[in-house]
Amino acid sequence: MAHEVKTTCPYCGVGCGVIARLGDDGAVSVKGDPEHPANFGRLCSKGSALAETLDLDGRLLHPEIGGRRAGWSEALDLVAERFSHAIAEHGPDSVAFYVSGQLLTEDYYIANKLMKGFIGSANIDTNSRLCMSSSVAGHRRAFGSDTVPGVYEDLELAELVVLTGSNLAWCHPVLYQRLSAAKANRPEMKIVVIDPRRTMTADIADMHLAISPDGDVALFNGLLAHLAASGVIDRNYVSKCTSGFDEAVAVASRLDLPAVSNATGLTQAQLRAFYRLFETTENVVTCYSQGVNQSAAGTDKVNAIINCHLATGRIGRPGMGPFSLTGQPNAMGGREVGGLANMLAAHMDIEKSLHRDQVRRFWGAPAVANKPGLKAVDMFRAVADGRIKALWIMATNPVVSMPDADAVEAAIKACPFVVVSDIVRDTDTARHAHVLLPSLGWGEKDGTVTNSERCISRQRAFLRGPGEARPDWWQLAEVGKRMGFAPAFAYNSQAEIFAEHAALSGFENNGRRDFDISAHAEIGGTAYDGLKPFQWPQTRGSTPQQRRFFADGRYFHPDGRARFVAIEVPGPRRRDAAFPFTLNTGRVRDHWHTMTRTGRSARLSGHLAEPFVEIHPRDAQAIGVSGADLVTLESPHGAAIVRALVTDRQAEGNLFVPMHWNDQFASRARIDALVAPITDPVSGQPASKHMTVRAGRLAAA
Ligand code: SF4
Repeated sequence: MAHEVKTTCPYCGVGCGVIARLGDDGAVSVKGDPEHPANFGRLCSKGSALAETLDLDGRLLHPEIGGRRAGWSEALDLVAERFSHAIAEHGPDSVAFYVSGQLLTEDYYIANKLMKGFIGSANIDTNSRLCMSSSVAGHRRAFGSDTVPGVYEDLELAELVVLTGSNLAWCHPVLYQRLSAAKANRPEMKIVVIDPRRTMTADIADMHLAISPDGDVALFNGLLAHLAASGVIDRNYVSKCTSGFDEAVAVASRLDLPAVSNATGLTQAQLRAFYRLFETTENVVTCYSQGVNQSAAGTDKVNAIINCHLATGRIGRPGMGPFSLTGQPNAMGGREVGGLANMLAAHMDIEKSLHRDQVRRFWGAPAVANKPGLKAVDMFRAVADGRIKALWIMATNPVVSMPDADAVEAAIKACPFVVVSDIVRDTDTARHAHVLLPSLGWGEKDGTVTNSERCISRQRAFLRGPGEARPDWWQLAEVGKRMGFAPAFAYNSQAEIFAEHAALSGFENNGRRDFDISAHAEIGGTAYDGLKPFQWPQTRGSTPQQRRFFADGRYFHPDGRARFVAIEVPGPRRRDAAFPFTLNTGRVRDHWHTMTRTGRSARLSGHLAEPFVEIHPRDAQAIGVSGADLVTLESPHGAAIVRALVTDRQAEGNLFVPMHWNDQFASRARIDALVAPITDPVSGQPASKHMTVRAGRLAAA
């Protein structure tokens, strides 16, 4: 019978509510949920095409071992046996899980519990490492916790919205719609876009600052020095609620305006205008995303931004604050359960013995990993050099999406035992699996996700899973039981897992940690089924709901104060004359990640049909390239072939390529094969921007 189900979009971190309708004839249609607080009924092109991406072509329908069909019992027995064997022979750090911001929180929770609590290693990392781990590290340095202070509504309430390293129009489209509507209602609202490219987002900006790649620390250090010199510092807030201000300002003031101009590629007049606007506007929100995070100085960039908000006390109140926008639908949920190699469940700290002991007692675990595990880039290095003997990859395609992708593919090929859980059977990564496990996809699986403003929403099933596909949490729990941990993994439903997760968040917490949803610790199946979107925290018995953090000036460092971080401006990157261009990567409006889903929609593929490189007209002329020519891009790590898109939206000397295409859609289009495995020293996030490459017209065969 026809029915409607409220669920959540599986694409970006905006986390829009979707109403999916399953008709009598089995046809699916979708519309925005007018009651969901992220989108109030809006959807973007990707969200509104969700029904077009549900066909079963290429679905993985049964477990496979070595390419032959197998039963679940045989496959799970083998996975448990090979992981147990590797651990017995080589220790717990010889195995690893590489998971995904596409997993639901319940899946993530079980993966983390199995690896950190029962296997006894912290070798679980996620493709969210590639997306927002610099923001996590920056939050923890500044606030003592991984807390996004504000909410989406702040963008609508602000007088000034600064978007840096964020092409909001294409990467968080519904949030962009909300911002555009707010500006249309209040034309006096100002928007500043800081991006080397004149993106679609810049089209609504009052000011576009075409900053040099990696000029962000200099720009925001310059702003901090300007604020200090112009006397708009909130002295009361700084002295009562923070520490480290004087040192941060002293370091920031080392560059004078001409030096900042030199480091950012912006004129002194542009800098003065931006600094004056920030100085004179009380309600300022600064949003940042991958353009800030995906850098060898990503964490420093985040703290340079937060410093400016702390200095003015513009944080945690309506219409003001720094705001990290997550890329994936459940990057935030992964952070909550400790799905990063350097974190523990419920925002606890793996390096604190008190926290390890709390988690160990709560889980009844034999031991909890006592040191951080391998972060994504290091994990695949460990696979390559033979330290990892068994690897389980879930809901992600690292052969396409990891930096130095050719080397990652070679490492996975050589790994003694690789398990891949996915919905499709022929991804670039799945081809190298010894065991393939069929997972449920969007519309088939049930659980929760958390968006960029800390709002937890249900993803609900409205379709039967095909073949023998099963939830990811079930696969992990079954392997956990077979490895000898049966009582700890005897779950009957995702509702039980969510209740346990909520209970852990409140376990011996007493307000010492930010993440607490213990109000839901006793939630049962019916209440879970009907769970409405809510923002954390929701502590046991709490009412009304707290929506923002830090307006009271109380942070999560032991002394309750926020930290300014004194940040040195990174020196200019050494250039090799053989690779004269600076290459940035990013997303396009209508595709998602490696296109395993959006590539199924002709409508979405019609927006931009092929991989391309944006190049400035003078650069194109200099290398003999015309619009629509095929261009080879080469870095010291690999090569790709893309179509030339000649445009003055791109700054001279810089190139831009989208990250989505892979060899399934176009020959030699794996852009991440070009990306060097350079990482931020604090967060471990790869620097997927600011690469050095050469470009040339593809010679005719
Ligand atoms: Fe989905 Fe993001 Fe679009 Fe919302 S903005 S519909 S979450 S892709």
